[in-house]
Amino acid sequence: MAFLPINRKEMLERGWEQCDFVYVIGDAYVDHPSFGHAIISRVLEANGYSVGLISQPDWKNPKSIDVFGRPRLGFLVSGGNMDSMVNHYSVSKRRRETDAFTPGGVMGKRPDYATLGYCNLIRQTSKDVPILIGGIEASLRRLAHYDYWSESMKRSILLDSQADLLMYGMGEKSIVEIAEALNSGMNVRDITYIDGTVFRASQLDESLPTIVLPAFEELKANKKKYAESFKIQYGNCDPFTAKRLVEPYGKEFVVQNPPQKPLTTAEMDAVYDLPYERTWHPSYSKAGGVPAIEEVRFSLVSNRGCFGACSFCALTFHQGRIVQVRSHESILKEAEIMVKDPDFKGYIHDVGGPTANFRHPACEKQLTKGACGGRQCLYPTPCKNMNADHSDYIALLRKLRKIPGVKKVFVRSGIRFDYLLADKKDTFFKELVQ
Ligand code: SF4
Repeated sequence: MAFLPINRKEMLERGWEQCDFVYVIGDAYVDHPSFGHAIISRVLEANGYSVGLISQPDWKNPKSIDVFGRPRLGFLVSGGNMDSMVNHYSVSKRRRETDAFTPGGVMGKRPDYATLGYCNLIRQTSKDVPILIGGIEASLRRLAHYDYWSESMKRSILLDSQADLLMYGMGEKSIVEIAEALNSGMNVRDITYIDGTVFRASQLDESLPTIVLPAFEELKANKKKYAESFKIQYGNCDPFTAKRLVEPYGKEFVVQNPPQKPLTTAEMDAVYDLPYERTWHPSYSKAGGVPAIEEVRFSLVSNRGCFGACSFCALTFHQGRIVQVRSHESILKEAEIMVKDPDFKGYIHDVGGPTANFRHPACEKQLTKGACGGRQCLYPTPCKNMNADHSDYIALLRKLRKIPGVKKVFVRSGIRFDYLLADKKDTFFKELVQ
């Protein structure tokens, strides 16, 4: 299966008069499942929708957004695999010199706050086409937030971008539900019921269990109120227990629906088995390709979600606490493809995810009742209900090592050692050290 079209000519060659969705991205187009835009565009394709990609458009020129003309259902916008400000600046706010997500590693091919820049560009030419925003930048800025770069409180990115709908967390299920709603003729303003989305409302719907957060003006005036608000948000990241959250802005409201349900193993497999080209678009070869692929080219995604709750990490706020995994078969199939790559030297660089050694939810109850709101799974001491067991991960790593052509399998993703020590058997620890 070829790359999805990046210009009008390629769209017409596929026999499409119009794209269902035009996807504007802050990164170079890399059709590999470690890139959010690749997954979302392939998921839409698998569900029968046509998608054209506009990568790193010139944000000062509205024509750059008009490559495919008007999409039938809407524009999708993502700032990229990283928040654009993290991509552009070091923690000491020094401008970085390279951008691994741009051909040749060149810096400066996307604007600061890229999601806002692209949405404003679209609104200049297409006032009435739905704009749906997603990706990490939109996800972590979905409600009012402190912006380190400008040292100020910012409103929900949904308001500042003028987008119609925001998808947070991992978007496979949400995007298909939104596409179905738009395809059925629904007005985007009426799509207010999909899990994992944030929308704007002019009045409160009291018929659903809802928590009203402090208003934006209060958050701006009082840091403690912001801390209280975030604590409530953090406590409502679980798809089984979260309530709708409402953040008032004057007479308007931003409403966050509960997160999407975790993907089953069959659903995870389906996502990773899509026909990715597994590399950058060939138009970038002259510039030397896209450096970010090197980090993931010979690595395998094994899981999502994390119950580790490290205090520095925003992962739970994006992917949730419930671990979701791919089957051995799906991972082995991808490894077999990798081995055939002429550049593969026999080393699988990683088999992991947010935490490498989490291969199942912390406990059975998480899958029906959600994770405990009042306590962490590992801290201050490991919960007695936690199932600390590495046998599935060990079996997977052993199978990968047996594939002809594989010399070594490394684990580069972080390992939670407290979880490792909670396992009564030390087989994983011994094999890892060996
Ligand atoms: S019972 Fe224990 S392991 Fe399960 S979600 Fe609650 S804290 Fe985590």
